[in-house]
Amino acid sequence: MFIELIDLLRCIRPHDETWLVASFNKVNNRFVEEARLGCPSCSAEYWIRGGVADFSGEVILPECDDERKAASHRREELATRAGAYLEATEPGATVVLGGLWAYAAQELSEMAEVRVIAINAPGEVKESESVGLVRVGSEIPLAAGSVLGVAVDAWFPANIVESAVRVVRPGGRIVGPAATKAPSGFSILAHDDKYWIAQKAPEVVTISRASR
Ligand SMILES: [Zn+2]
Repeated sequence: MFIELIDLLRCIRPHDETWLVASFNKVNNRFVEEARLGCPSCSAEYWIRGGVADFSGEVILPECDDERKAASHRREELATRAGAYLEATEPGATVVLGGLWAYAAQELSEMAEVRVIAINAPGEVKESESVGLVRVGSEIPLAAGSVLGVAVDAWFPANIVESAVRVVRPGGRIVGPAATKAPSGFSILAHDDKYWIAQKAPEVVTISRASR
């Protein structure tokens, strides 16, 4: 994982958000290949191995690379769809692409100049300075309200959506599989037989009275 992307990661246990303290074992050209990430609050430990940060804990991840590959489209098309669905039009923002959506990670990060956290990406998806690979169970290890959008596919546990709700900022979007319920309190912008696109309510800004 590129060293700057590690700053985005947070402990997934239920306590006040904390940074993780990294002890590097192997770094190559600012890419962290092996490291221990320790939580100063609850002492949880997570590992980066082979460049991939692992927050999956006890969860056994399904072997579904082939199904994902079969369901994925051409990468450019997937990137265009992901960019449009998530309205990724803000350079420097962070988006989360899960499962088969992660095939679009590199293309989308270049097209939209965003950072991509690719969760449970198929094996052939490679990391870069703008794409970080993370294995998750049902918790996305990012700060609350820190991402522009999250897209997940049908091979995640259904409660990944709850975690997506937490990490998406006001006005941000979640794309989820039709088989999973869209989060309540979100506006459904579009849906078809495969996916729905939901938007978190934008922040209501109080306009203060002009001073006399
Ligand atoms: Zn912790």
